This record gives sequence, C-alpha cells and structure tokens, in this order.
Amino acid sequence: MPTQPDRLRRLPVTLGPVHDETLGSYLHRLAVANNRPASFLARLLGPLPPEFSPLSNTTTGWNSHSPDRLATLSGRPTPHLARALPALAELLSPHRPGQRTERMISRPCRCCIARRSPTASVVITLSPVHVHLCPRHQLWTRSTHDIPLVALPEVVEGQRRLDQLARRHRQTGRALDLARKIVEDWSASGMPIDLGTEWTDRLDRVEALAVSKKISAEDRSHLAAFPEIVVLTHLILDPPTSAPDPKALYLATTAELSRRFARIYTTLGTQDPLYRRFCLYRDRDGPVSKSGVSL
Ligand SMILES: [Zn+2]
Repeated sequence: MPTQPDRLRRLPVTLGPVHDETLGSYLHRLAVANNRPASFLARLLGPLPPEFSPLSNTTTGWNSHSPDRLATLSGRPTPHLARALPALAELLSPHRPGQRTERMISRPCRCCIARRSPTASVVITLSPVHVHLCPRHQLWTRSTHDIPLVALPEVVEGQRRLDQLARRHRQTGRALDLARKIVEDWSASGMPIDLGTEWTDRLDRVEALAVSKKISAEDRSHLAAFPEIVVLTHLILDPPTSAPDPKALYLATTAELSRRFARIYTTLGTQDPLYRRFCLYRDRDGPVSKSGVSL
C-alpha cells in the first residue's frame, strides 16, 4: 500500500528535474541523492512499473494523489515538475496538444548533464527521434558513450539537414528508421552503390578516438554511415517522382542516388532492399506507409 499523503515528508536532499526527463530517471536521481532505493520512492507514488529503471516513464496505476506526493517528496510545486517531466504533464493534461515531433528515450551529452545536474552520472530524457548529437558540444549521443565529432564535420552537417527535414515532415522518424534498415541491408548483402571509401575513411577517424574502444561495432558503423542515411532519408521523404508505380519510383530513386553520390548505382531490382522496403510499399499519401501500392 502506498504511504498516506499526510505521512510523506520532503526528502532531505531535493533536486529539480532536468527538462524532458523521464520519471524513472528523476526518481533514480532523487534516490541516489538521498541514499534510498529508487523502487522505494516509486512505490510511494503508485505501483512499481515492471523492470523499473531510469528508462521508465510511466504513470500507470497512479491515483489523483500521486502528483502531490511527488511534489511533497521533491519539495517542488506540481506545475513546476510538470513543465520538466513529460509523463507528469501528460497525466495532468491528457488532452493537451501533443508534441509535433516524435520523441524517444535518449540522453543528453555528458557536458549538458554536468551543466544541468552536476551530481548526476546518468540522466535520461525524451528527445526528438531525429536528434543524434548535441550541437552545442559537438558530441554524438546515440551510443553508450559520447563520441566527439570534431573530426567528423560531415556528421554534424548531416544532422543539420535532418533538422531541416524534421521541421517540414512529421514522419522523419519513420523515414530515418527505414533508411537505416536499407543501408544496413546493403552492408550485409552487397552494396548496389560503392560507399566503402567514405565509410572506411570515417571508421578510421572514429577508431582513432580513445572512446572508440568502448563503443560497439554496430554503433561505430551507424555513425560512419550516418551522412548517407540522411541522404536516403531525404529521398524517402521527398521522392524524386510522384509516380505510384514502384518500378518507376525505384528507377527514379536509384538515378537520384547515383547523381548525388556521383557514382554508378547497380540496379538490383526486386532483390534491392531499397525496392523491397521503400518503393514497394510507398503509397501516394504517406511516403513510408506500408499500405497501398503493390505490384
Ligand atoms: Zn551537450
């Protein structure tokens, strides 16, 4: 049973949430600062979420007293907390207009964490799905460790283009996901367009960094291929033809890729992940819809 509201006391050490922080992250930081188990604090508010961790961001099972309990524990007014904690804001105002951009569980770079919460080692936040790096500190944050981007200016430029696309398209996250899968399939099954020189060169620059030894090969490859993933994302969102025929779309897209990368694209037809994942399933209303056109 949750503790009764009148028995709750403000925690000895209080700290504020970071903007867009997950509830799990905030409760874990409060718990560490007060030398208590995070699960103990979570149970004061409602049922313990399954696999409770800093990534947890749910208010499932909370009752009408839960937000006030969190305010008591943290020593901060509920509206103040709701401005920083998206899950709490959603609970208090479930019908408010949603975020325009899709968001995902992420983390700020270590420099941003140090600036916002000097005592925290881990802060988990929600961030737009298309954001892969901290532009202020030039650090790639889509890995277990921050990766400096000083030697990879084309990655920073790729993110800038992605930001522009995300301002115009609501489906940037889905297109990005699709582009990454296509590029991964190309890598695994044979490249129809030779991007090996760029990727090898970038991997060399990543592997020259001390932090690269702590990063998985998958994360290093993602970083190395990121500029090309952005180019493909752009073509998925703004296809070179509006023709509904998958073959026409495929040929127009491969021609455009060939032009942009200034090299030959070997059209593999129905065996090409670009065809199977994108051209075959695109419909006229949604560039990455899985319904609609078929052969
Ligand atoms: Zn930063």
